Amino acid sequence: MPPSLKIISTRRSFLNRLGLLGLASSLPNSWFLSASGLPVLPNTQTLANKASVVRNRAPLAPSAFYFLPLGSVRPTGWLKEQLGIQASGLSGHLDETWADVGPNSGWLGGKGESWERGPYFLDGLVPLAYLLDDARLKSKAMKYIDWTLDHQAPNGMIGPTSNDDWWPRIVMLKALTQYQEFTGDSRVIPVMDRYLRYQLAELPQRPLRDWSKFRWQDELLSVIWLYNRTGSAYLLDLANLLRKQGYDWMAQFANFQYTRRITAEYIKLEKGEGLKDLALATHGVNNGQAVKTGPVWSQISASFANRAAASKMISELNKYHGLPNGMFSCDEHLAGLDPSQGSELCTVVEYMFSLEQSLAITGDPTLGDRLEQLAFNALPGAFSDDMWTHQYNQEPNQVECSLHHKPWTTDGPESNLFGLEPNFGCCTANFHQGWPKFVTSLFMLSGAQDATTQDGLVAAIYAPCEVRTILRGISVHVVEETDYPFSGSVRFTVSPTTPVNFPLQLRIPAWAAGTTIRVNGEAVSTPLPASFARLERTWKNGDRVEMRFPMVPRITKWFNDSIAIERGPLVFSLGIGEDWVKLRDRGMTADWQVFPTTPWNYALIVNADSPAESLSVTETKPVGNPFTRKGTPIQLSVKARKIDNWRAEDGAAGPPPQSPIVSDEPEETITLIPYAAAKLRVTAFPQCKA
Ligand SMILES: [Zn+2]
Repeated sequence: MPPSLKIISTRRSFLNRLGLLGLASSLPNSWFLSASGLPVLPNTQTLANKASVVRNRAPLAPSAFYFLPLGSVRPTGWLKEQLGIQASGLSGHLDETWADVGPNSGWLGGKGESWERGPYFLDGLVPLAYLLDDARLKSKAMKYIDWTLDHQAPNGMIGPTSNDDWWPRIVMLKALTQYQEFTGDSRVIPVMDRYLRYQLAELPQRPLRDWSKFRWQDELLSVIWLYNRTGSAYLLDLANLLRKQGYDWMAQFANFQYTRRITAEYIKLEKGEGLKDLALATHGVNNGQAVKTGPVWSQISASFANRAAASKMISELNKYHGLPNGMFSCDEHLAGLDPSQGSELCTVVEYMFSLEQSLAITGDPTLGDRLEQLAFNALPGAFSDDMWTHQYNQEPNQVECSLHHKPWTTDGPESNLFGLEPNFGCCTANFHQGWPKFVTSLFMLSGAQDATTQDGLVAAIYAPCEVRTILRGISVHVVEETDYPFSGSVRFTVSPTTPVNFPLQLRIPAWAAGTTIRVNGEAVSTPLPASFARLERTWKNGDRVEMRFPMVPRITKWFNDSIAIERGPLVFSLGIGEDWVKLRDRGMTADWQVFPTTPWNYALIVNADSPAESLSVTETKPVGNPFTRKGTPIQLSVKARKIDNWRAEDGAAGPPPQSPIVSDEPEETITLIPYAAAKLRVTAFPQCKA
């Protein structure tokens, strides 16, 4: 038994005698009760044991699931390689080549960029550095962390003195909470406490405005995080004030008005009204962040309707702006259903973060389906294979990435180049959080609001990883081995140090009818799609759980009755031949245009009633980065015919012609590869008339 476990069991028995175990279970195990019964901070070394989950403290409504302390889930297999690619790419070197987060950053005490870019970078760099246990990246992150923690103003304000905007500080709080969980640094909680007390006193005179008004729910996460650790009642007052001053996203989606493509004229962009409510309410990144509003607020309100608001928002966005890569269009405002419209990379990572938080609070398995869709398609789709360049906007039907005028609602001509900071540098600073936060969301803790109900583990989303945590006082190690999403086979090995009873819940995606589960080789009853399968038993060292998802290709319907091919959480695209042409060098990286070298204007010949019969699947073992054309372990073949009059204009594919469609062109066999592997692609295809 490691030393930390001894502390817990001793403390548990002590508290049990006092009848305080219910209270104890709501505290991190590294906290101790002072003589007055109030928690006091222990030393950093003890905090770093990371053994206990922090649950919602009364009067907050309990969450369905809780995140395990950061560092409990570690990536393995292809996922670890992906984080390694990120660390070797722009994420691991951004400060060396981009002045906005370089030595002159305002968040390092310099006179340079002093707004959101430093905090954005840190929000992804911190989890990346600690998940990889990479000393080089940790020391980069520490410069910002140390400066921020050591330069708090006497009144409590944090950050550069050149601006007092609440928004960049909302991002910095997210970075600080993660850093505290990974390290237990005892400076974090007092700094956050002083800052939030200051903000509560200041907000009546200097209310939320612009971005912070529309992104208040992200601050609420940090307020709740701190409340669960200190129990200070003023934090609930602050939560209520943020809600009062913040934009009412739940009202927007209860009666959703923005059902059309938003134009620059509509939001009066030319008249300088880009920060007015109309522009901000239809802004893609804001909407991506807003998806979490209902669930996050439901922790305060205890309202079931608030909790369900995330699904409502997603379904409205999907209905009017949905794209087959799982995103909604936002280039940079909501842009309708045409698959030649783009989605901003900031929105991809913020939408993912919203889904991670919402899944934990609500326990709604379908949020996990969408999260996987974004993580396995839209996220890697926006990066070059080495993660040294990214796009601002990506399109499902992306037949050219060039300086041509594109159909963006408000963005500039560079928006879908692969580069350092195409169009605008927000995504350059913000993309780093995508993969690392996905890793920390793979497993969660279920149940156990008090000591009488049972803790359990939840496999919330699937990718290769391992988990080390403590359940009922017993150290538990779970190894998840899988090539998912490329293969449907997922194998868990559960190894407690001594046998222990707990439920293991496994998310069954909505597409996964017919999933089978075996425990130590024995089949268990067939789980329902869009649910969590619950395996409750006494687990002993080396127990095996094997899941097999039905990876049968299926079709989904999109704009003009076009079709997309999906298999598991992956979306498939025609990989158009690519000619990468360097536009200019950009420090350690470069900006690139990509031009098509092969035809793309195909309609698919697919039996809609039984799509799998029309597609043949080739699977190989993944080697290297599986989200690349070279490394993809899976390909689909399908029959198709060209559609002569489906063309591109200014580098953008025209809308797919209405399906079904007749073509006299000869039948060909074309190859589809995962969306992310095809940087030039068609994803929404017309369907040939039978
Ligand atoms: Zn961005």
